[in-house]
Amino acid sequence: MNLHEYQARDILRRHGIPVPPGEVATSADQARAIAARLGGAVVVKAQVHAGGRGKAGGVKLARDAAEAAAHAAKILGMTIKGLVVQRVLIAPAAEITAESYLGIVVDRASQRPMLMVSAAGGVDIEEVAVQAPEKIHRLAVDPRYGVLPHQALGVALKLYGDLTRARAAADIMQRLYGAFYAVGASLAEINPLATTRDGALAALDAKIVIDDNELTRHPELAALRDTSAEAPSEVAAREAGLTFIKLDGSVGCCVNGAGLAMATMDLVKYYGGEPANFLDIGGSSDPQKVVSALRIITADPSVRAILFNIFGGITRGDDVANGIVQATGQLALKVPLVIRLTGTNEELAIEILTKAGFSALSDMDEAVKQAVAKARTA
Ligand code: GDP
Ligand code: MN
Repeated sequence: MNLHEYQARDILRRHGIPVPPGEVATSADQARAIAARLGGAVVVKAQVHAGGRGKAGGVKLARDAAEAAAHAAKILGMTIKGLVVQRVLIAPAAEITAESYLGIVVDRASQRPMLMVSAAGGVDIEEVAVQAPEKIHRLAVDPRYGVLPHQALGVALKLYGDLTRARAAADIMQRLYGAFYAVGASLAEINPLATTRDGALAALDAKIVIDDNELTRHPELAALRDTSAEAPSEVAAREAGLTFIKLDGSVGCCVNGAGLAMATMDLVKYYGGEPANFLDIGGSSDPQKVVSALRIITADPSVRAILFNIFGGITRGDDVANGIVQATGQLALKVPLVIRLTGTNEELAIEILTKAGFSALSDMDEAVKQAVAKARTA
């Protein structure tokens, strides 16, 4: 789950990281009032789940409240990377003399949280990673101990020659790890960690992605979800208890089990097609889940054919078959359906499908080939 910058800033602030104050506005008038209250120059920042807002014109400095209102009026409603800006953050403008990058991600290669830092922070960190990877320093964190003081200081000294500043940065790194761990993040980032005119450090931008599996343990974090900023199909799927990820292809996939769903997408690609989604209807599929799944898949206009791939173990074939019959009764399907179904209650399932005018295959290769061909000719 992605958080907005203002939400991530709150978390970092609670963990003792120096984050300037700030408030969120949904209108130019509110922006003006906040800026007037803060006094002096402010920065107006688009709150969307995307980086690169600065380059897209979504981060603007304002000398006073009137200018803040004007910037807010422009930024609100703007589209950044396909996302409409509904809120802006108003914060006091910092005078920046240097920008560093601090980030922690779960690193699959080392199977540890990885602290990554660079003195070349700011808006071009992605380019630094590609063009000058030696400017990024890494520390694999042992989850039993976290980021230890001497490790943090060692890393911080690669960014700052000044010992007082390096100590302050080391403290921020340890606190960032604390926040990352406490909220169950898969990513926590400060970019820039700015050095301000008075020599202090301040986290001016924050990004946190929370591992969805942590949300049941953290209801207070689940409440931070902004469904208006997410793909409507993914929101609908989550509410229906389905694991769904929207992709760009034309073959809609409805599969039971995450592993089989991955294998199905691989095979769609192997036979020259492109999956329109990843969808796992889960183990014990009641017919209603199938109805929801088909509704979500058919709402995507780029879907040209739908492939069911069901391997009945705990999932009962007759449940899925009933779901397909119910759903197609309710939905007036406009695209061809290819069904591959095998395993538990297979005979019963095929009887239900045949009665309703569908046919089912038992061979996965054959079903995928047919679905890819139908998506192409449809
Ligand atoms: P991003 O582009 O989405 O990463 O948004 P950021 O919040 O990181 O802002 C982009 C850039 O705007 C930063 O790297 C800074 O250079 C600049 N910026 C952000 N806040 C301030 C500020 O308070 N004062 C000044 N002078 N520049 C800022
Ligand atoms: Mn940034």
